[in-house]
Amino acid sequence: MVDFELSEDLSLLQATAREFADKELAPNAGLWDKEEKFPQEAIDKAAEMGFLSVTIPEEYGGTQIGNLGACVLLEEINRGCASTGVTISVHNSLFCSPLVKFGTPEQKQKYLPKMATGEWLGAYCLSEAGAGSDAAGLRCMAKKDGSDWILDGSKMWITTGSKADVFIVFARTGEHRTRGISAFLVEKAYEGCSVGKKEEKLGIRASPTTEILFDNCRVPGENLLGEEGEGFKIALDTLDGGRLGIASQSLGITRACLEASVRYAKEREQFGRPIAKFQAIQWKIADMATELDAARLLTWRAAWQRDKGVPVTKESAMAKLFASRLANRAAREAVQIHGGAGYTREFPVERYMRDARITEIYEGATDIQRLVIARDTLS
Ligand SMILES: Cc1cc2nc3c(=O)[nH]c(=O)nc-3n(C[C@H](O)[C@H](O)[C@H](O)COP(=O)(O)OP(=O)(O)OC[C@H]3O[C@@H](n4cnc5c(N)ncnc54)[C@H](O)[C@@H]3O)c2cc1C
Repeated sequence: MVDFELSEDLSLLQATAREFADKELAPNAGLWDKEEKFPQEAIDKAAEMGFLSVTIPEEYGGTQIGNLGACVLLEEINRGCASTGVTISVHNSLFCSPLVKFGTPEQKQKYLPKMATGEWLGAYCLSEAGAGSDAAGLRCMAKKDGSDWILDGSKMWITTGSKADVFIVFARTGEHRTRGISAFLVEKAYEGCSVGKKEEKLGIRASPTTEILFDNCRVPGENLLGEEGEGFKIALDTLDGGRLGIASQSLGITRACLEASVRYAKEREQFGRPIAKFQAIQWKIADMATELDAARLLTWRAAWQRDKGVPVTKESAMAKLFASRLANRAAREAVQIHGGAGYTREFPVERYMRDARITEIYEGATDIQRLVIARDTLS
């Protein structure tokens, strides 16, 4: 049986998140973007509403609504503010989710309750200056010292870098390209761990993206996540879920573009009638609405499969590929529908266009998603 209806719980979550985004995010997102201000108050409120605990089991204070639930939530949040959206996505999908899946009971007990309440935020440190798409080329080193590990190296492009309290860090513990990588839980307060340069960005400007530096940083042995040498496997499995978060971010941005375009097209008059009466505008709106539905179906299917424990490497790559390209097309069309007004900060569509750009780059650039899909399809 195929069921296209959301459960009562997820419908309620969707409505609650939509109201939160309308009240707390959309009216402020423009200012946060302009001032590059981290939306701390909104994140605190999101935590109170349980939005930071959606991948955490109840025994650790979470709601564990699953991947589909996370997608429903993230679409609504990103419709209001993509910077808040990526903060919540990384915390849930790239930090809490792998900790739940690969962590020891002691690790979960130590960190998850703090993550569930939002007392602590999490981040994910895979990329380096020389290792982006080729993540297995990472050079950050972890050497054994007694039962501890000593980390040396630097990570780049870390979302929430300056605001997170604890990171999942991938570092080299052996020579083998992929099996020589291990994952560690590293608290920012550990000596030798520091925040480096903050990037000045085109979009998602309220989300701080920073370097994270490790200089002789001592990490207790019990903070190894998973087995030694299992890090790359953990990194890739985590990205299968994370990509659904970015696909949902793309859905949220696309919906914001569509809604803004419909509103403007009905109000703006040229040649004595609303521009919505022109077929050229109607076609743009029709394409956006149709492709949004298609992208959501791809995303929710992959999330539903992941909730069932089915591997979704190809399906989540397809969802991210399609949804992120759509967000960019939709944002471009939304600016076009707004004409000159769309090119100014009077209207949010110029921000949507800048925010949309990142969805095709992080958690695997567009061509990397195609590579993953092609590899699977040709095999
Ligand atoms: C705002 C922002 C936030 C980020 N947050 C995080 C984070 O929290 N944690 C984290 O670990 N990383 C993060 N990243 C890093 C992000 O995941 C990488 O930027 C991304 O994986 C691309 O790597 P790169 O920038 O090194 O580009 P490159 O790998 O240098 O790629 C450049 C271009 O070459 C193409 N290319 C590369 N290899 C191939 C190939 N084999 N075939 C075809 N085309 C190819 C790419 O598609 C791309 O178009 C973030 C990046 C940004 C910009």
